[in-house]
Amino acid sequence: MRCTPDAVAAALAEIDAQQRRRARVTLTPATGPGGSAHVVRDGRRFVNFASNDYLGLASHPAAADAMAAAARQCGVGSGASHLVTGHGPEHEALEIELAEFMQRERAVLFSTGYMANLGIACALLERGDLALQDRLNHASLLDAPALARGARLQRYPHLDAAAASAALAAHLAAQPRRAAALFTDGVFSMDGDIAPLPALGRAAAAAEAWLVVDDAHAFGVLGAGGRGSCEHFGLDARAVPLVMGTLGKALGSFGAFVCGDRAHIELLIQRARTYIYTTALPQPVAAATRANLRALRAEPQRRARLFENIARFRERALRAGIPLAGSTTPIQPLVVGSAEQALAASAALADAGYWVTAIRPPTVPEGAARLRITLSAAHGETEIDGLVDALARVSERAAA
Ligand SMILES: *Cc1c(COP(=O)(O)O)cnc(C)c1O
Repeated sequence: MRCTPDAVAAALAEIDAQQRRRARVTLTPATGPGGSAHVVRDGRRFVNFASNDYLGLASHPAAADAMAAAARQCGVGSGASHLVTGHGPEHEALEIELAEFMQRERAVLFSTGYMANLGIACALLERGDLALQDRLNHASLLDAPALARGARLQRYPHLDAAAASAALAAHLAAQPRRAAALFTDGVFSMDGDIAPLPALGRAAAAAEAWLVVDDAHAFGVLGAGGRGSCEHFGLDARAVPLVMGTLGKALGSFGAFVCGDRAHIELLIQRARTYIYTTALPQPVAAATRANLRALRAEPQRRARLFENIARFRERALRAGIPLAGSTTPIQPLVVGSAEQALAASAALADAGYWVTAIRPPTVPEGAARLRITLSAAHGETEIDGLVDALARVSERAAA
């Protein structure tokens, strides 16, 4: 695109023509008891069914206290990258605590999950290598091979471990000296379903390929202790060498980590460009994350409550004839079809006081625009029942 006003206007007009223009909305998180499940817009309060703050930890008072104390003690900014002078005691302690929690030898922090995924790919792969991915992986995984010195991106049908296995075998036969990595979301961000990790692990091991799991939506949620999709399936480090988890979703703060064995993590530190060439996460953010990691362990009632809420929502919605998908996680998609239908349903829910985001192409496939409903431990029973009633009214109106 040339740097002319016409070229920029034409690019925006094209987005409009595809009905893909997106707008930001300024929402203020509500405070006070039960506040973490509410947002306020222009003075009006909504129950938030669109956040990834699955455990209500974003508003945990202990995390806010830890953040404020660290800011006074260490300042608000890190001042440099981790490999220069930006690596502080809160980062070091958080990495040790995350590794211990995840039962892995070592963990390394990244500024965001997006950067962690790019960094993993660029540390493991190079030109001629294969980055094999589930079709519905998160954009940050699908974008990653571009940074990996031209590794080849290939996608396999959603959840299809047999197809992944065949693609790895074909790569090995054609390029016996080249490496391969199999990337998958643990819980898929727009569908809420869970990757078939045991079968993917067998496929990767048979081809001496890496299996990398992006547990953005599973860390803090799945497994007996909230360790994510590997714990859910009982898989150890041998089956899944590298796990990426994000800290801005169930953990309620910000940032990401990758855990694995000592040598794998050392390789990331040496080679991941999105780790080396960026300013370290602020230490107050690491301090808040440490507080929420303690809360995750000390307050198991939050996870219990989340799963009670998921069960209540599904049971009532299915009884009301709302065609939910099979998801058992906090992400409960309701596919409605066209982008316009999804937007209209989202607006009708907002009228009723419920904030639910319409997810449109290109984030999801054409014709699969949806309401992406997310549940949280912070939701009360009456809020969940109210949402189900509002959804039933919206779908009746759509059918009429
Ligand atoms: C949110 C998300 C990311 C990105 O994490 P950020 O820390 O928000 O950059 C990566 N992968 C998946 C599956 C996600 O849902």
